[in-house]
Amino acid sequence: MNGTHVTVRCRDCSLATVHETLRNARVALNDHESSTDHRVDWTIEAVDSGVSQAGADAGVCGRPECANADSPLVDPSPPESDS
Ligand SMILES: [Zn+2]
Repeated sequence: MNGTHVTVRCRDCSLATVHETLRNARVALNDHESSTDHRVDWTIEAVDSGVSQAGADAGVCGRPECANADSPLVDPSPPESDS
């Protein structure tokens, strides 16, 4: 289970959706803003099990293959190798 998710909430209506990636959240946010001219916020949330997962997703070893492209923490660009 991936404990990290992104909640998208509209300031101007009752819209509230949850996405597993920041990329998907951004799509929903842009779609709602462009179609309604509302202002939308997102919040990255993580439950306890998501904390260690987020650390792994951050690419601690620095190798691109270790980075999880689906993690909002490494979007839009994965960490560069320092070698
Ligand atoms: Zn709205």
